[in-house]
Amino acid sequence: MTIDAIASKVAAGGRLDAAEALALYRGAPTHLLGHLAGEIRATRHPDRVVTYIIDRNVNYTNVCVARCRFCAFYRPVGDAEGYVLGFEEIFQKIDETIAVGGGQLLLQGGHNPDLPIGWYEDLFRAVKARYPQFKLHALSPPEVLHISRINQVPVPDVIGRLVAAGLDSIPGGGAEMLVDRVRKILNCYTKASADEWLGIMREAHHAGLRTTATMMYGTVETSEERIEHLLRLRSLQDETGGFTAFITWSYQPEHTEHGGTEATGVEYLRTLALARIVLDNFDNVQASWVTQGGKVGQLSLGFGANDMGSVMIEENVVRAAGASYCMDELEIVANVEDAGYVPKRRNMHYEVLGDPVFRERDVPRMLALATARTDDDASVPDELSRYPARSRQGKALRLQ
Ligand code: SF4
Repeated sequence: MTIDAIASKVAAGGRLDAAEALALYRGAPTHLLGHLAGEIRATRHPDRVVTYIIDRNVNYTNVCVARCRFCAFYRPVGDAEGYVLGFEEIFQKIDETIAVGGGQLLLQGGHNPDLPIGWYEDLFRAVKARYPQFKLHALSPPEVLHISRINQVPVPDVIGRLVAAGLDSIPGGGAEMLVDRVRKILNCYTKASADEWLGIMREAHHAGLRTTATMMYGTVETSEERIEHLLRLRSLQDETGGFTAFITWSYQPEHTEHGGTEATGVEYLRTLALARIVLDNFDNVQASWVTQGGKVGQLSLGFGANDMGSVMIEENVVRAAGASYCMDELEIVANVEDAGYVPKRRNMHYEVLGDPVFRERDVPRMLALATARTDDDASVPDELSRYPARSRQGKALRLQ
């Protein structure tokens, strides 16, 4: 098929197969990809609304046994820079989130062997007891699998227990590239294979949770493998309809074991547009301005994105790998309006909550991103002593 014929098929609402998607990705001019993706976006969201959410990205621990080669965030068990946040610290972060109009935490962390499932259940219950309306968008599929493995509790039971404790939805982190060849090279196959990641999302959808889906590109994968990733997501979405949105970002190489260079802005926009075209059963596609910066984030709206993601109050993972773009609500709204769209606040289910908070009341401006912990803070939360550790270092620490 020629590029023109594939473009006509997309314009007519047709579904692309792998060969057609590859031909389009490789051969179509960037403006054509943007045009096709923009048309799909306009059909799905004819009112020109661009949504965003006010939430906080909290990483409850940086201690991790997975050791992914693309990760600059984790610290090994026993490392002096390893931390676990205390419940009180997390409450304080929630208070700050509420003060700027937020209603949700995106809570993710390393695969810490010294946090049993009871720690998560107690944390979630404590959050819900104190903030009944506050939402917990927490624990990516590999974290769920890690909890299942170290506690020897089956995945459906882990999900059931966490939902009973207060889990509202699951973020799509840890998907990286859903191709096991790539996962083995990046040392993220054992934390979750492609089938395991998808299987946990299937379980979550069956349990009634909505989740997001992600893709990190720009390491060792081929174009064919990027398309395979998208097709696997599309297939699960056909089956369950449980994904609310798709988010893609480029690998951030600084301070990682894998190293290398970062993909360009044009490659990002092409990949984003391709995702919008291939994922014909996803309503929402996010702009990843945290890795691309506000200007490319704004351009994303012309390449299929209809959502600006989260107002970043705190970010630790991408920052550790060298990117620390920051936009508060005022800047996100300015970018959206300047591009000719209508900004609206939303919740995790992509339901519109209203107009920008700062137009309704005074909120503190956030001109710098917060971090999980300040560098000189090595404190160990009191409540950790209530939970049994598994690692030698963790056991020693809890005896102190
Ligand atoms: S990406 Fe996540 S699972 Fe992998 S090493 Fe980093 S913190 Fe651990």
